[in-house]
Amino acid sequence: MTSCFNDNEIQHLDRDALEALQLIRFKKIVKQALKTEFYKQRLGSVGIKDQSDITHINDITKIPFTTKEDLRDTYPYGLLAVDKEEVVRMHASSGTTGKPTVIFQTQTDLDRWTNLTVRSLLVTGCTKKDVFQNMMTYGLFTGGIGLHYGAERLGMFVIPASSGNTKRQFMLMKDFQTTVVHATPSYLLHLFSEMESMGYSRKDFVIKKAMIGAEPHSEEIRQKIEDFLQIDAYNSYGLSEMNGPSVAFECEYKKGMHLWEDSYIMEVVDKEKLTPVPEGTTGELVLTNLIRESTPIIRYRTRDLTKIIPGECPCGRTHRRIERILGRTDDMLIINGVNVFPSQIEEVIMKMPSIGNNYRIVVRKKGTLDELIVDTEVNSDIISDDTRKLYALRDHIRDELKASITISPQIEFHEPGHLPVQQGKAIRVIDER
Ligand code: ADP
Ligand code: ZN
Repeated sequence: MTSCFNDNEIQHLDRDALEALQLIRFKKIVKQALKTEFYKQRLGSVGIKDQSDITHINDITKIPFTTKEDLRDTYPYGLLAVDKEEVVRMHASSGTTGKPTVIFQTQTDLDRWTNLTVRSLLVTGCTKKDVFQNMMTYGLFTGGIGLHYGAERLGMFVIPASSGNTKRQFMLMKDFQTTVVHATPSYLLHLFSEMESMGYSRKDFVIKKAMIGAEPHSEEIRQKIEDFLQIDAYNSYGLSEMNGPSVAFECEYKKGMHLWEDSYIMEVVDKEKLTPVPEGTTGELVLTNLIRESTPIIRYRTRDLTKIIPGECPCGRTHRRIERILGRTDDMLIINGVNVFPSQIEEVIMKMPSIGNNYRIVVRKKGTLDELIVDTEVNSDIISDDTRKLYALRDHIRDELKASITISPQIEFHEPGHLPVQQGKAIRVIDER
């Protein structure tokens, strides 16, 4: 699966050349997939018995989707397409939505994934002069180790801090003059809200950039991080089924994430009908990994909702961009018959200047009806102010939410630092129904 292009050329291939490269790689993946019983049946059911049955990249649409359930049903080794002795590592999803799913990597797989993470860091402007403090959890989760390998290969000074231990994070950041951090946006906001109480100030740090990912977050959350620290924050998307971080990454322009199409085939489909939607329309992202020989996964329904951004990025890279992830199809709440995504609520509340860094959505039954409660932290200045200001703010948020989601929730205010914080992915929704 090597190609005659260098990485910079690959990022700028025109569509025909990119699709030609995808086709070569896809045929190899089909060949690998046919080594597993699972895909032998799946592909066989649509008449694909050999890689030569694939003649055009669009042939992919004949193949049935692979779902999270398929990965669970084939656990542990059903999708392994190489000898076990070729495997050098395994990873698992965080298990946010149930039993984890596993994938395997050969040395070649790891090399290719690492090259992608190097590319991703480079497009944000990172260089070997940077000091990279990795605050993502290390372990089965791909977020930590994934970017670690890329940062190291790029030649950055890597601090494998992992998540949590706020005090130590600050100490490392100051003593080793960290310039780039990698964390979930919720953890980063939490961390910096503790800065003063831990005896630090912004001038103790030389941080310039943050790579943020692993969980949905609104533009408003990014703005908060950027404004508070005067840095650039880049959105990073990935999932273990597709290797992990570096499936899609923002470039220096921060106008959506380039999905690395030499390594993944992307489709966006209607989440119910599962038919393709046009560019610019939101749907479920479906991905095929083109670079992993050990665990081929074809047309994986990610359950993540996004859209392809039409048009070219000012950076000139040709790989199409996706919009920030709106949420997962299974994140959608149905409240008294109305569909609501937590991200819609986040967008409204995080626009308000007096709202703090953390929030939580609680849904419970009240009689026969559903009740929506939005718990949010407010900045300390407003708490000590006149209570009329608090009431006015509460009414204002309620009105804005009503206008956005058509539901008028109960709003509860909390002091800064009073809502629970996770070290990894934030838990935003408590559904008590
Ligand atoms: P799990 O599905 O158990 O959380 P992973 O740890 O592999 O598994 O996490 C991948 C998921 O995390 C993605 O499918 C997506 O829902 C979410 N995710 C990852 N990066 C982002 C991002 N930048 N924005 C929004 N959501 C993200
Ligand atoms: Zn770009």
